[in-house]
Amino acid sequence: MPGECPFCKIVRGEEDSERVYESDDFLAILDINPSTPGHTLVIPKEHVATFPELSAETTGALFDAVQEVMKRLEGGLEPDGFNVGWNHGKAGGQAVPHLHLHVLPRFEGDKGGPVQAVVRNEPEEDISTVARRISGGGSPPKQGLEVSDPSAEVPSEEEECEEEEEDEEEDEEDQINKSAREKWKEMKKGRY
Ligand code: AMP
Ligand code: ZN
Repeated sequence: MPGECPFCKIVRGEEDSERVYESDDFLAILDINPSTPGHTLVIPKEHVATFPELSAETTGALFDAVQEVMKRLEGGLEPDGFNVGWNHGKAGGQAVPHLHLHVLPRFEGDKGGPVQAVVRNEPEEDISTVARRISGGGSPPKQGLEVSDPSAEVPSEEEECEEEEEDEEEDEEDQINKSAREKWKEMKKGRY
């Protein structure tokens, strides 16, 4: 509801804010409860609650606005890095129902973490299975679940052979993912 929305009120100038950037479609303000110096919110002027609701043109322009804000923060505060992101939905931590991106300047030794540290909910399934679900491969049968279907057809020798090949491909994929994860762990050890 744009009428009641706190960010729409800021956009219309009915509430005070520290404006750091403005274009036809976006407003960037300093967060009232900053997590870090220069913590900025990039807000589309159009009232949409979440990112998927944003029109294609505004979505592209959003990243131009973020880039401009980052340049200004870099010029003004000389941070050592940034985290940029947004909270989507209640589970994602969204409190204000008007889309806004957080731009968080980072400074060496500020004791913050990377964006992926906001959650540690390790999947029970291996990542290849998760990838297949997402890419439209459908849900694989639950592992360990016994299915007894007397009407199920007995697979032909050819079908059995195909299944074996698919299993081998999946095993190979799992191996690749495993070694990529191990490489990444090694890399992390060296970097952080
Ligand atoms: P979230 O919806 O969880 O992404 O967070 C909303 C953010 O908006 C919080 O970081 C608040 O501190 C900030 N905020 C809420 N009201 C205002 C306001 N009137 N001016 C500036 N920042 C605000
Ligand atoms: Zn709004």
